[in-house]
Amino acid sequence: SSSGSSDKKYIIATDTTFAPFEFEDKNGKRVGIDMDLLKAIAKDQHFDYTVKALGFNAAVQSLESDQSDAVIAGMSITSERKKKFDFSDPYFDSGVGMAVKANNTAIKDYSDLKGKTVAVKTGTEGATFANENKAKYGYSIKTFEDSANMYEDVKSGNSAACFEDYPVLGYAIAKGQPLKLVGKLQAGNSYGFAVHKGKNAELLKKFNKGLKNLKDSGEYDKIVNKYVKKK
Ligand code: GLN
Repeated sequence: SSSGSSDKKYIIATDTTFAPFEFEDKNGKRVGIDMDLLKAIAKDQHFDYTVKALGFNAAVQSLESDQSDAVIAGMSITSERKKKFDFSDPYFDSGVGMAVKANNTAIKDYSDLKGKTVAVKTGTEGATFANENKAKYGYSIKTFEDSANMYEDVKSGNSAACFEDYPVLGYAIAKGQPLKLVGKLQAGNSYGFAVHKGKNAELLKKFNKGLKNLKDSGEYDKIVNKYVKKK
């Protein structure tokens, strides 16, 4: 079309299951904080989009190869990633935690992981943390493409623990996953909406504007509180 950006339908890539940020509800509808924020921001800023739930690593790769226009996937704003991507203003604070099977009393901290297997999700901050501390604590690492299978491996006892963003672990536990958080939580990076560096600047600007409007109107809090009850 000749009329430019207003006709564009952006392709936004996301994770498959990363509740409460993106997941399918019982009707098969993709919901969550990221999905609801995106929807409200798009409405506020008048842009069209389709969501592709690819998995975290695949979503990031699709952005890098320009098969998508943006990623919203609980994606942490890191200095390493800033070399390749431009991020929106931060919209949610997070960090990495460790979870073990709920009835596991043997593992209380990282130092109990010696000789054990730790499960992580490819390309995530949890995986980076696991890799950086592997030699120090003497565990081996098993990688998964999605959180659901990673949790299963901990629940079945194959992996002793998993490293994942603590708001996500906390939500899973609150929703009945037989896991528990142990050890020290790692201060982490906030989540941002990402575009390929130097590309889709207009979309990024709209996201930031819309996010600000949602914060000012109270809509942002409403969306977050729908999923995580603030104390
Ligand atoms: N916040 C983490 C990261 O950016 C995990 C994101 C995810 O698993 N969807 O690496």
